[in-house]
Amino acid sequence: METTVKVKFWEFLREQGLRQTAQREAILDLFLDSGGHISPESLFNTVKRAHPHIGYSTVYRTLKLLAQSGLAQEVHFHEDQTLYDRKSEQHDHLVCVRCGRVVEFQFESVERLQSEIARQQGFLPQRRKFEIYGLCRECQQRTA
Ligand SMILES: [Zn+2]
Ligand SMILES: [Zn+2]
Repeated sequence: METTVKVKFWEFLREQGLRQTAQREAILDLFLDSGGHISPESLFNTVKRAHPHIGYSTVYRTLKLLAQSGLAQEVHFHEDQTLYDRKSEQHDHLVCVRCGRVVEFQFESVERLQSEIARQQGFLPQRRKFEIYGLCRECQQRTA
């Protein structure tokens, strides 16, 4: 699956007249391994270890290109912070307002509810944002 993502991204770069570089590949690999919801800053800090000469703007632009190509999506869980998420199957998010942890979930009943709401309104759904904000288990224990 990851190979497919890579091939698609190289095709997209070629269409844009951009080159496939070792740096872009390193960024893409880390992004795919990250489990999603990653900020350009934290990806930059990780990729720097193996590629000390990489610039922040390269990371930033590569993530933008990934989003443009439709292989990643930008998500905004916290004000003025853009995170990059894998564009896999439709999934929803739990967001901890204290530590920032993001948990993905897929729940059959949510899909059913979406279909039901859309059907009642004669609406054709294309995408959905469902985010639950609160405290994760660890943060609740820390409070108690
Ligand atoms: Zn996600
Ligand atoms: Zn938390």
